[in-house]
Amino acid sequence: MDGKSKAILAVAVCLLVLGILAIAASFGLGRVRIIACDVGQGDGLLVITPGGNDVVIDGGPGSKIADCLSRYMPFWDRKIEIMVLTHPQQDHMEGQMAVFANYKVENMVTTGVKNDTELYREWQKALVLEGSKVYKPVAGDSINVDGVNFEVLWPAGARYDIWQEAPPSDVNESSVILRLNYGGQCAYFTGDIPKEILELVANGHCAVLKVAHHGSKTGTSQKVLEETKPEIAIIQVGKNNRFGHPNKEVLDLLETARSKILRNDQLGDIEVDLDSKRVITGNN
Ligand SMILES: [Zn+2]
Repeated sequence: MDGKSKAILAVAVCLLVLGILAIAASFGLGRVRIIACDVGQGDGLLVITPGGNDVVIDGGPGSKIADCLSRYMPFWDRKIEIMVLTHPQQDHMEGQMAVFANYKVENMVTTGVKNDTELYREWQKALVLEGSKVYKPVAGDSINVDGVNFEVLWPAGARYDIWQEAPPSDVNESSVILRLNYGGQCAYFTGDIPKEILELVANGHCAVLKVAHHGSKTGTSQKVLEETKPEIAIIQVGKNNRFGHPNKEVLDLLETARSKILRNDQLGDIEVDLDSKRVITGNN
């Protein structure tokens, strides 16, 4: 190769590297992004790891989660590395049908606690057809993906034994609680767990708290906030919902704790960069 060819090759390589870096930057690679999708009255979140792996937690009602995923994932990425169902209720589960339909879900994290509904049966069928590896989370487990650690805080192993005899009368009690840990920062994902259980298992301060049960007073107490001291409190809630979520007392508790309250009904999608704690909102 002559000198001129070498120079051209060097320039081409530089341009390629710059191009790759620009693409990586435009998709926010290199950091943990937590996106609370605007799914209406329900929970649906997407966590994107520094290397671009995707973790979906719940799916909300309807199919809005799929639109949200397409807003934040590059169009060529059709793979969800991990999907979590915190508990088998419609406002967390229904949208996962659209995720199965539009993406390849490699791993499914679910307690296996059943709900006697048509939707639950449909979801079970869809999961079998999807062929995902199914993983039952037990407190003390660690789920690691691309350097991001999800610590399972709930359910405790002993609960599974009890639920095998009879499922919990309040299915919210079976909600999977996860603590995401990365680079000295952390975030809690709490499903619809009752505050009595969250008080028991919450484990230190985290920058981000996904407020339990759409800001209902069953999910948050002063004790929970004293333990977790979240700088950012995300409330996944729909406009004018019939439950009166979020509860005024919970909002007051969060105000007193000086947490920044971010609500999907007011802001649309909510994206938090875990490291810088920069917040971006709106539906693009
Ligand atoms: Zn719910």
